[in-house]
Amino acid sequence: MKKTKQDKSTVALIHRPKVSGTPANYDKEAVDQVKGMLKEGIDYLGGMTKFVKPGDKVLLKVNSVYNTPPDSAWNVDPRLVEALVGLIREEVPEVRRVIVADDSAAVKQVKDVDTIDVMEANGIAPAAKRAGGEVLCLEWDSHIRVNIENARAFPYFHAAQSMLEADVLITVPKWKTHIEGYMTLGLKNAEGYFTRTLKQDGFTAHESDKERRHANDIHQKFVDTLNVFYPDLTIIDGLWAIQGDGPAVFTEWEVIKDFNTIVISDDIVAADSVACQASGFPWDFMVTTRLATRQGFGNGKPENQVIKGADLKKVKRQFVAPKMFEVQGCYDNVDVYTHGACVTGCQPLLRLTLNMPQADGSLAKLKEPVNFIIGNNTYIPPKLKPESTLLLGDCVWNEWVGLPAEGSLTPAELRDRGAFVVGGCPSFANIFTFVLPWIYEIAEKDAKEAEEQ
Ligand code: SF4
Repeated sequence: MKKTKQDKSTVALIHRPKVSGTPANYDKEAVDQVKGMLKEGIDYLGGMTKFVKPGDKVLLKVNSVYNTPPDSAWNVDPRLVEALVGLIREEVPEVRRVIVADDSAAVKQVKDVDTIDVMEANGIAPAAKRAGGEVLCLEWDSHIRVNIENARAFPYFHAAQSMLEADVLITVPKWKTHIEGYMTLGLKNAEGYFTRTLKQDGFTAHESDKERRHANDIHQKFVDTLNVFYPDLTIIDGLWAIQGDGPAVFTEWEVIKDFNTIVISDDIVAADSVACQASGFPWDFMVTTRLATRQGFGNGKPENQVIKGADLKKVKRQFVAPKMFEVQGCYDNVDVYTHGACVTGCQPLLRLTLNMPQADGSLAKLKEPVNFIIGNNTYIPPKLKPESTLLLGDCVWNEWVGLPAEGSLTPAELRDRGAFVVGGCPSFANIFTFVLPWIYEIAEKDAKEAEEQ
């Protein structure tokens, strides 16, 4: 799998005014309709047989992020999965295997859940199996440490053997805005290449690539992986799309149910660029697209793209952008104190977490604000109530580096007086396991006291 070297890249932009059914509830007519969309797009690129040969093992790296119901739209649409697996089997009947795989974010965030459980819940597994595909948990696969010779930020990661052995890699991201990466499209779908625990291979949690890749250089890390896995095709699922604070959305308006659009290209960078433009943003809205274009992995610039199919101007819709770094002053009864928290670490994760109790009204029930301390060197006002304060993330404990700390409590003093401590760098898994229950417990207690008064 090599990086593309085309002067111009063809990108299929396929749109229909209406697509039958919903991700949760659809029939053969819907699958045939989506199959027609996929066939039209892939034919613009030379046809399925250009990419898939008899005897090939094809791996579809789908975006199966969470075990939410199909109509939540957090994950790739089962209609598209069923149509794509079916199309490959129809167009190349001698294909050896079609495998639908991911390493879901929910693994280790939700107790005792693996990617197959996630895919069963979100409708991807039944859809794949109906069409003759197999499903695979990448986290249970064997992993091999792969060094990236020309890495700028991610010199190695642990690649799943099934991915390394695939003859054809098709990446199938969901079309979503994203609080860490502006949007999550083809390049960000590499998240599923990274695994969290590799007990079967004798690794420890510290080898967790999902955590290693989270930091301010996350975008370059995704670009670095193109040296190892350059997808033969990128197929971006915008049948239903997500705007706002994706990938986890909690309000109706964030799911666009009539976008009915798919982007397909053999140039992952051009595909991401066109999807960005169709979402009303500039081609270089995402850092990954800028970096990958500059480093020669594809054609992000519109002048180097040939768009086939629908008219970009007619498909284009202005998506609501994610509020990536907005954690201060945004929520009822929440005060966030931060000096050095990462813009792709604890800040967006805290935002993602707070969106849930904000949407369900729990934050509004708090008698007084809860406090979060995130990032290093943060000034901690001495009058903060420890019982309603949470110290989040490992770098909270970093020593002061000469900033004026006079009058500040230290994290240790706050902890010793009873503040709640949640570690991690970032606090990815812990945030769901510990932070949300902590908020809900205080909200419940406050609501009960208010009732009794
Ligand atoms: S713990 Fe600190 S360094 Fe780690 S992600 Fe959070 S803010 Fe960034």
